[in-house]
Amino acid sequence: MLISEAERIIKDTYERRDKKRGIPLTVLHLVEEVGELARSLRKNDRDQIARELADVFAWLLSVAYLLEIDLEREFVKYYGNGCPKCGSIPCKCPPLEG
Ligand SMILES: [Zn+2]
Repeated sequence: MLISEAERIIKDTYERRDKKRGIPLTVLHLVEEVGELARSLRKNDRDQIARELADVFAWLLSVAYLLEIDLEREFVKYYGNGCPKCGSIPCKCPPLEG
């Protein structure tokens, strides 16, 4: 499934509710889901981790279409040729701290 196809499903399912809620509260839901993902990682519950990842992706798609941003196009633009900083696949940037 392409990102645009996933976005179509989420948009068809939730667009009315997402528009009524608005961008700031939808971003808040996305952040909450990221928190739930972190908690599921602490518990090391693989099924729950997978579910939370799907939830994060779904909320991310909602934020993208509320902002009228084509996430698939932007992803290809920034990551289509590998690391946007060093331009390599795999990335050759120095490791991040922490
Ligand atoms: Zn890099």
